Amino acid sequence: MSRQDDKRINRRNFLKTAGLVGVGSVIAAAKANAAEANEPNAPAAQPPIQKVPKRKLGKTGVEVSVLSLGLGRPAEPAVLRQSLDWGINHWDTSLAAGNGTSEQSIGEFIAKNPDRRKDIFLVTKENKSKTPDDLEKCLQTSLKQLNTNYIDLYFGVYMVNDMVRFTDDIKNWAQNAKKKGVIKHFGFTTHENMPQCLMAASKLDWIDAIMMKYDFRLMQDKQMQDAIDACHKADIGLIAMKTQSMRQRRGPADANAAAAEAEADKKMLAHFLEKGYTEGQAKIKAVMDDQRISTVCSSMTSTTLLMTNIAVALDKTKLAADDMDMLKQYAQATCSGYCAGCAHICEPVALGVPVSDIMRALMYHDSYGDVAQAKATFAEIPADVKQRLLSVDYGAAEHVCPNRMPIGKLIADAAAKLA
Ligand code: SF4
Repeated sequence: MSRQDDKRINRRNFLKTAGLVGVGSVIAAAKANAAEANEPNAPAAQPPIQKVPKRKLGKTGVEVSVLSLGLGRPAEPAVLRQSLDWGINHWDTSLAAGNGTSEQSIGEFIAKNPDRRKDIFLVTKENKSKTPDDLEKCLQTSLKQLNTNYIDLYFGVYMVNDMVRFTDDIKNWAQNAKKKGVIKHFGFTTHENMPQCLMAASKLDWIDAIMMKYDFRLMQDKQMQDAIDACHKADIGLIAMKTQSMRQRRGPADANAAAAEAEADKKMLAHFLEKGYTEGQAKIKAVMDDQRISTVCSSMTSTTLLMTNIAVALDKTKLAADDMDMLKQYAQATCSGYCAGCAHICEPVALGVPVSDIMRALMYHDSYGDVAQAKATFAEIPADVKQRLLSVDYGAAEHVCPNRMPIGKLIADAAAKLA
């Protein structure tokens, strides 16, 4: 057996056994913590010894776990407790998540475990605020729901697609909130026109951290790489989300293209299985290996998912050049189902239709199975635009789309499913 084979098998065994040993330890830790919390039928046990590594979150100076707990839905107390036991201190929620129920579930945990608040780097986001007054109301609601008197990182501008929302008023609000101690750090999130937003933000001295969509596909984008470099040099903390890079699948009408993409799926899966990674683990690993990214935020709603991702975070091996090549080839072979959020390219010729938002709504529906989120995103489209969605000629938008997405077909699909 070659040293290379030996290494691969060791990693495969590591990832498998990290899961198995980890689950055992997690259960033990959960029991120990339940005993401490006087929960019934809770025998004492030893806590786990391994911790997810940490990286500095830019100019915040805070060491955050390289894996971040994404809480878009109400959280299970066991998942919250176990994530802390494994060293996952970065928790991400939002005012809108689950209509406030995500923040409330975290608030209940903090109320029952006030001594653990100091161990959590708590992140939340505003929702649809247009003025500093709106922003203040959002923050106060979050503080109440989260049962805390400060937020570690407040994303006071949510889902940015251009920089017009970065006014002096918002800057002053952020600085005052920091002075009062109700927020420790300030930043924004972005899904659209990310290279432009990141590049502009790198010149603002009052942005501490940014959460952006980033995955193995966007790694191939030179503009995105330059923008990440600029933010990294400006010491802005970078948090990656949506690393699974979900795409729309071809329908039966595109049988040949669907077969080619299915073949690409199979090849990629087989490659990573041989290396000891699941598809999801490989995608997270690719982003986590990028040292400019402080943490990867992943929605983890169950202990199983938590353990699968923790195994990746604990794995010290970096993806090899052939792994990155495989992801690059796979990205090219399947790009026509993936919206990169480059709305500035297609939307000027799409007659006012928010193409990127509609693609995101369809992704929530088809890939995440989150019908409520999909419908809520679709509902944001102004009524007059919705009325003409099916009558617009998307030929020009399809022509300029770098991923050659069948925009017209996908918008018709979204309208049928989400209207
Ligand atoms: S549809 Fe194409 S051009 Fe438009 S945002 Fe998505 S990837 Fe970019």
